[in-house]
Amino acid sequence: MVFCVLFLLTLLSTGSLQFQFKHHNNEELLEVLQDVNSKCPNISRIYTLSENSVLGIPLYVIEFSTKPGHHEVLKPEFKYIANMHGNEVLGRELILKLADYLCEQYTKGDPKIRYLIQLTRIHLMPSMNPDGWQLATDTGGTDFLIGRTNNNSIDLNRNFPNLDRIVFTNEDEHIDHNNHLLEQLTQLSEPLQPETKAVIRLIMQVPFVLSANLHGGDLVANYPYDDSKSGRQRGEYTATPDDETFRHLALSYSTRHADMAKPNRHGCGDIESSAFPKQGGITNGAKWYSLQGGMQDFNYLSSNDFEITMELGCDKYPPSSELENEWKRNKDALLNYMWQTHIGIKGVVYDSQTKRGIPNAVIHVKNVTNEESYDINHDITSVHDGDYYRLLTPGKYKVTAYRDGYLPHTKLVTVTNKPHTPAQRIDFPIKPITIPPYIRIQTDNYINNKLEDEFDNNQQWSNWAEENEPVPEPIAVQ
Ligand SMILES: [Zn+2]
Repeated sequence: MVFCVLFLLTLLSTGSLQFQFKHHNNEELLEVLQDVNSKCPNISRIYTLSENSVLGIPLYVIEFSTKPGHHEVLKPEFKYIANMHGNEVLGRELILKLADYLCEQYTKGDPKIRYLIQLTRIHLMPSMNPDGWQLATDTGGTDFLIGRTNNNSIDLNRNFPNLDRIVFTNEDEHIDHNNHLLEQLTQLSEPLQPETKAVIRLIMQVPFVLSANLHGGDLVANYPYDDSKSGRQRGEYTATPDDETFRHLALSYSTRHADMAKPNRHGCGDIESSAFPKQGGITNGAKWYSLQGGMQDFNYLSSNDFEITMELGCDKYPPSSELENEWKRNKDALLNYMWQTHIGIKGVVYDSQTKRGIPNAVIHVKNVTNEESYDINHDITSVHDGDYYRLLTPGKYKVTAYRDGYLPHTKLVTVTNKPHTPAQRIDFPIKPITIPPYIRIQTDNYINNKLEDEFDNNQQWSNWAEENEPVPEPIAVQ
């Protein structure tokens, strides 16, 4: 009896609940996040994106980190976004359970989870489309399309700026620009929806390294590009320069899922889908079917982030009785995928004289593993304090750091990717380009002369202004 009262008191004082496998509505979604946050206040934080959904529902994210709210030097950032299509609901429930699991295992002292959270800043967004979820749920969750779009009937996974066209044009015209392409965008094919705008801001603000976008309707891990180069609807494999890395990332999910990669399982229906089991449970997006304005390609072409799209099952809205089993089928895959944030190399690009970190330095990689070496034509850039993260599969690479005003610095690197360890650290001290003294004297004289001329001009202008200053109008006294 005493024990029961004590238990009840504890429950009331912490307000904490046991996680339930069920379809959480939009209010319950927040309650789960708040419950997790109250159990793990030191390693979690809830935040909302800059815009609400069309119907005014906030878009929530829970973050796990040893320093919530801050980017830390050399700590890579990861995100899962689920329920972008409102009627594809399994990802939403898996992400809520994942948040609960990370907190629970951290508190219990699970060494692997503690290490993962110490090494990674993790952002979990259970629903990008709460309005669509509501409509799908209110109509029974059985239709293949109802609730897919946002409340303005726009498919959010077609609403991102189309950067694929820009990169394909650059390739054809031999223009060497292959990353951070948003600045080259001149027009939008349709207005950005609030949910899209909010996620674009998130992508621009947080230096993500790896992410995934969780969908349903098939069982496959889909990797970029989603848009075919020729515009063909189906069957055109359109590889990114990081095809090897993306295939590895997709396999890191499919092979840890209960049966995504099993060759003898059945496909979900269409002809391409029946081939997935024999392809290790993965597919190139454009090879399956081509789409424009998707979130996956936008991440890769607008930022340093690598994103893939997971289709978590044939059934878009599975009954709640299946959710616990689905968690068991996906748990290892979800965790293993997060660990991939640590493949390849990371380090700091810094000024060799001042020792200060240099943001926006370019990291270019050449694969020299085999005889025929080749450039990976997708550069990434260093972030706030000069820290950079470059996902790579095992092999030998020539890595070069560039920045205007500095001499480039190249290092030969062997990547091995030991599981559950941070990426190998490779720093780049780069040397400012200095002008030889005799040229500097000449340059200084030139600059000084120039400045004097400017000064004279300024004097003349200020004299002219003084001479021609308008006489103030007399102020009427009232
Ligand atoms: Zn979808």
